[in-house]
Amino acid sequence: MKELSVPNLRGSAAQKNGRDQKSRFDITSITMLVTEQCNLRCDYCYIYKNAKKMSEETAKRSVDFLIENSTTTDGRLFICFFGGEPLLEPELVALTADYALEEAAKRSLDMRFSMTTNATLIDDKRLNLLKKYNISPTFSLDGIGEAHDRHRKTIAGRGSFKYIERNLLRLLELPFSTIRLTVAPETTRALPDSIRWLIDKGFKRISISPVVEAEWDAAALSDYYDAWLEIYDIQAKLLRADPKDFRVSNIFSMHMDLKSPESREFGCGAARNMVAIDSSGNLYPCHRYVGYLKNDPSAQIGNVFDGYDDKQRDLYISANRIETHRGCGEGLFSDATEKDQRKCSNCSLIGNCGSSCMAVNQHMTGNPTRPHPINRVLSQIHTSVHIQTQYEIPDEYLEPGDAALCATP
Ligand code: SF4
Ligand code: SF4
Repeated sequence: MKELSVPNLRGSAAQKNGRDQKSRFDITSITMLVTEQCNLRCDYCYIYKNAKKMSEETAKRSVDFLIENSTTTDGRLFICFFGGEPLLEPELVALTADYALEEAAKRSLDMRFSMTTNATLIDDKRLNLLKKYNISPTFSLDGIGEAHDRHRKTIAGRGSFKYIERNLLRLLELPFSTIRLTVAPETTRALPDSIRWLIDKGFKRISISPVVEAEWDAAALSDYYDAWLEIYDIQAKLLRADPKDFRVSNIFSMHMDLKSPESREFGCGAARNMVAIDSSGNLYPCHRYVGYLKNDPSAQIGNVFDGYDDKQRDLYISANRIETHRGCGEGLFSDATEKDQRKCSNCSLIGNCGSSCMAVNQHMTGNPTRPHPINRVLSQIHTSVHIQTQYEIPDEYLEPGDAALCATP
């Protein structure tokens, strides 16, 4: 099996106390690709499409794998239904949820569900499925109308907004739903208006995810900066009106990161306390690895039938440690020694820099610990807007979910 190119940690503090000698990290969450098929062809999508769907046996075994490989202090376990488009397989989602609830009940565990969906297929049956299993959905959107249609197209190449506009409003019947707004250089200018439209319709939770793989030229970055200034203004007004009512999650997680930047030991939970499972039952550090490196065995960290490949898993856990991230070479460094300068762990931007995403690092530079400079540029924009607007959020308005789990969902 091909080995990752990650720094040798032999002799580091992590190795000495044995944490990386053998993986002993329990998972609390799995992302299941119940299908690798999708009814859209968004041109930036990183998931490799094919007709494969997960078998019932693999779905049940995935649930067993989660339970067998977890010890939670609060009894909570999480399953995220992912794809492709998971609502192409509502029966399999229901079967998996039923089985997971049954197995959890036998052990007094609290099993919770989420789903990432493109919202094109929401009908009564699927809406009831989300309600019945209390599935917290995240809906992918690029904006309203043309902004959405620019990149999110059907297999026939037509814009998909008309298929989701009516569905979006039905989603308001669900208690918790998040809109994930993906923003590309061409759609940045439309971002603030899209957010206003969503607020007007009644949506309460939005997260914004830039397409890091896109070509961000100076004009696009300038638009991105201006868009964020406007978004902060929108959030500030709503925060004053009702602090619990509406939140752009990036602003809250930025606030948390700036408050306690030293608290970050790992970039995220990938490989350590969460794993992704493809339709065949192969394990990956997270959902992005399934897409970026689907056919590369070095991205696999075992399978649900035979268990972990401990060596591969440990490599990714090590690569996910912030102390291993080499830095883009251009960040803002604190009081680091010359030798350690330019490492992400010594950079003032680390708390909110996409460099923490080892999947994007590996995809863009070939190395999970080496960030691409676009992360620095985007994080400098986020940080400088946050500081410029002197954004303050009183502690009592913060919620546990404000700490971002995945930098690039
Ligand atoms: S800007 Fe980001 S990628 Fe560059 S050194 Fe700082 S944290 Fe690392
Ligand atoms: S931050 Fe990156 S590596 Fe971590 S879960 Fe998200 S996509 Fe995966």
